[in-house]
Amino acid sequence: MGTATLTIDLGAVVANWQQLDKRTSAETAGVVKADAYGLGVERVGRALARAGVRSFFVAAAEEGASLREALGPGPVINVFSGHMRGDTDMIADMALTPMINSLEQLVRHVEALPGHMFGIQLDTGMNRLGMEAAEWSAVRDIALEQSPTLIMSHPACADEPDHAMNAQQLTTFHEMTEGIEAPRSLANTGAILLGGDYHFDLTRPGIGLYGGLPFAEASSVASLSVPVIQCRDLVEGETVGYGNSFITTRPSRIATIAAGYADGVIRAMGPKAVLYADDQACPVAGRISMDLISVDITDLDDPNPRTLDLLCPHQNIDTLAEAAGTIGYEILTSLGARYTRRYIGG
Ligand SMILES: *Cc1c(COP(=O)(O)O)cnc(C)c1O
Repeated sequence: MGTATLTIDLGAVVANWQQLDKRTSAETAGVVKADAYGLGVERVGRALARAGVRSFFVAAAEEGASLREALGPGPVINVFSGHMRGDTDMIADMALTPMINSLEQLVRHVEALPGHMFGIQLDTGMNRLGMEAAEWSAVRDIALEQSPTLIMSHPACADEPDHAMNAQQLTTFHEMTEGIEAPRSLANTGAILLGGDYHFDLTRPGIGLYGGLPFAEASSVASLSVPVIQCRDLVEGETVGYGNSFITTRPSRIATIAAGYADGVIRAMGPKAVLYADDQACPVAGRISMDLISVDITDLDDPNPRTLDLLCPHQNIDTLAEAAGTIGYEILTSLGARYTRRYIGG
């Protein structure tokens, strides 16, 4: 086989959801935007729904439509981008719940779909999505008359427990939602871990479901095994790959494997990344190419490994993120379209 195999453990996704659910007395939703962080919204969505998840969140109405097709009627599908121009039919036909971000969206929604469910997104300091305090006080009474299903906001620094922004946004959220009967939601994965003050009625974990920080106790979900295309022996002083950036300092054996930056193996991680053959680490030799990586297997017991692992028990998305100078979220959402996807545990 000429492409890598990405194994997605749906049992681990469900276990992570259950662990996060246990930490609160709130309802625990599932955030499955960006194709469930690159892992496949249909399979992940169905596994979560079977495990008892009743509310989902996606970024855009189009994602909501795909999820609705996978889940059928029943589960609530909330859309962070709210009611965008052109979304009306999809919101109606697919029974989506837009999280309204502005007066403009509120007007569009109640005029186009009177009586159709919606939520409200408030900005408590991140300055990304949602109504700010002044806009909210102007429309609050009108909006509340229409019985929104959820009032939500999003924390900017929840992965840093000591950051002063957390308490500040919590206070602002309380001020903006005082006396409101509609269910409230503030917490992503990081804010679930901050404790009960942040949980309100509904939590919205994403990355924690998929095995990423800041949920350090998460079970790992994705593993990636890459086939070796060929192996060769080099004498001391030979070069490997583009730019001759790797020069052997001893007789060496190099394996060429079938993945590269076009598959989301971020080029910048090159010199810091390693591949594993079971428990043995093998360094990347030289630059990562578009479809190929050279790996120094000189010290490997087996001179002809059939595959080498990039994601495995010894190296998770956050280890790779560290090597690439990014976050686990980006490693997951970059996972390649060429990988053969194999689902287990669902
Ligand atoms: C992505 C997102 C989440 C989930 O965040 P994680 O850090 O992945 O848990 C929750 N709420 C909103 C508004 C988001 O955009």
